Amino acid sequence: MGFVYRSSITLCCKKLCVRFPYSVRTERKQWFRFSQRLMNVAGADSESRKNNGEINTVAVSNIRNFSIIAHVDHGKSTLADRLLEIAGVIDPVEGQTQVLDMLQVEKERGITVKAQTVSLSYKYKDHEYLLNLIDTPGHVDFSNEVSRSLAACQGVILLVDANQGVQAQTVANFYLAFCRELTIIPVMNKVDLKNANPDAVTEQLKTLFGINEKDVLRVSAKFGTGVKELIHAVIERVPPPKVDRKAPFRALIYDSWYDRYRGTIILMYIRDGSLKIADEIQSVHTKKVYTVKSLGLLRPQEEQVPLLAAGQVGFITCNMRSTKEAHIGDTFHLKDMTVEPIEGFKPAQPMVFAGVYPMDQSQHVALRGAIEKLVLNDPAVSVSVDSSPALGQGWRLGFLGLLHLEVFSQRLEQEYGAQAVLTAPSVTYKAKIIGEKNIKHYGGEEILFSNPSHFPPTSIIAELQEPTVMGTIITPDTFIGSIISLCMERRGIQKTATNIDNNRVMMQFILPLNEIIVDFHDELKSVSSGYASFDYEDHGYVPSQLVKLTIMLNGVAVDELSTIVHISKAVSCGRKMCEKLKEIIPRQMIQIAIQACVGGKIVARETLKPYRKDVTAKLYGGDVTRRMKLLRRQAEGKKKMKMVANIGLPRETFIDVLKR
Ligand code: GDP
Ligand code: MG
Repeated sequence: MGFVYRSSITLCCKKLCVRFPYSVRTERKQWFRFSQRLMNVAGADSESRKNNGEINTVAVSNIRNFSIIAHVDHGKSTLADRLLEIAGVIDPVEGQTQVLDMLQVEKERGITVKAQTVSLSYKYKDHEYLLNLIDTPGHVDFSNEVSRSLAACQGVILLVDANQGVQAQTVANFYLAFCRELTIIPVMNKVDLKNANPDAVTEQLKTLFGINEKDVLRVSAKFGTGVKELIHAVIERVPPPKVDRKAPFRALIYDSWYDRYRGTIILMYIRDGSLKIADEIQSVHTKKVYTVKSLGLLRPQEEQVPLLAAGQVGFITCNMRSTKEAHIGDTFHLKDMTVEPIEGFKPAQPMVFAGVYPMDQSQHVALRGAIEKLVLNDPAVSVSVDSSPALGQGWRLGFLGLLHLEVFSQRLEQEYGAQAVLTAPSVTYKAKIIGEKNIKHYGGEEILFSNPSHFPPTSIIAELQEPTVMGTIITPDTFIGSIISLCMERRGIQKTATNIDNNRVMMQFILPLNEIIVDFHDELKSVSSGYASFDYEDHGYVPSQLVKLTIMLNGVAVDELSTIVHISKAVSCGRKMCEKLKEIIPRQMIQIAIQACVGGKIVARETLKPYRKDVTAKLYGGDVTRRMKLLRRQAEGKKKMKMVANIGLPRETFIDVLKR
């Protein structure tokens, strides 16, 4: 099968004069079969491919670089499908959906996790245009994918669901584009829906962003209505890139992924000059020099080209061995030239940390391999080695948010078959240390820690700080009361509230990050019957009264079970933890006291009753003293056992407790 597969590729490659690589990145594998079919069937397409060189050096004035941005599920990927169909890249008869969502998790969850670039050729008014489209994720965790995509664009399609209206990520994404001074094309999607309310949505766009009613396009991405007009609007409204083809070569790296055979593949936006095979390029950040091995466009399958010119978005390979060398936001230039670095963007900062351990230690090596490989394709994840007496050797990984964590563990399992135990997520806290000796010991006055077992002794802490976020919530006004009380309960401070139309409100809260990472979003959805939407951005550290909540079993502290909480939550959290442990820990021969304590003070307690053998069962009748004697003897035995017993919790129990 594999053989037939390859040879047919070589065949069509010869026909089309394109060297098609058959070592594609794992994520693109599914694409492969698809692209192969494409090469065979797309008659019209092959025409354009023959003119490869021509399209490749399309005039700057005929290039449009744009992204589709919107809230989750407002139809970005569906719209991208229609655009691909109109450009003749996919066959509408096949009825494929969300083709740019290539990962298995994306297909299963119906969400976009990774921004995808595709270069389309489109003929408009007798001119051949090169449209570089980037489909972006809408979920808050992946907003850095959006912001780096925007660095390669001059315009955006701001998509709004005609039924749901403006949502929290619509606002966040609008401002990302607005701050970069990009051309914004407001588009209302799903106008085919029965309960769509386009007029109300236009009103919201006007109130919130000052968008003129006549600029708003109405489309149905599902049925393709108005999509052609949208492409024309993109060509007419979005300006061509401001670049200089005569200047020395300069390019911005905005994505990278790893291929087993070719090394790191770098996606770049060429700002000035041009690049061809065998050119020597240098990174501004690392100063390392590489020789360009291949160049190409994503259409969306890889298409090799001999030259990339300013204004284009394309990928290169250059024998780079690790994605760590490809700093997202870095500038590349020709060797031994000095150029002004291109203005980059904020690199992704991990916000949520969790321990990852193998199911049992024999799987340690396999899990390490899987994590290393996956991190190559997801550089936003930070990795450090960690260990725990109960779970053995493992890692502490940093993620952009909870969804990112879930997606990562799902990908570990699906793409690498690695089973892992993930501990409860936590955030990074800051502590200011006092005392010369302590500062020396910790290597600085300020230390960062996310693992409760690294909580410094309270006697040497001058101040503790926790990270906060600015949360934006958009909701119908009937739910205001319950949402405010939810935020207050989560230690939120309300900042603003604005009406965005007759019955919708936008509120902003400053919330501690550790209060929202686990279940805030679910709670918000349940108190608002699913109508409220939430987005957040980093809001820095604030001083906070944090304590370490330690769990003790018969007076012995179990470090793996301790957590860091705000002092106001210590009692309730301790109680919950003890109750949960009482349910999970198997009963033993002796009584177990499960206690939660803060700084030596017990705040909650549960007692796990021992198994009890009925030692008096063999008695019948007789004197009561005989009964007493037997019971006394049993009690003595238990006491002795308690003194020598080491409560060994089975590994499964730890896994049950630590799992979310
Ligand atoms: P994304 O998260 O913004 O990429 O949204 P998707 O493209 O994944 O679409 C989310 C859902 O909306 C899918 O179930 C689509 O079928 C549906 N959808 C997208 N566009 C339209 C449309 O124009 N009309 C209708 N009725 N449904 C649509
Ligand atoms: Mg999508």
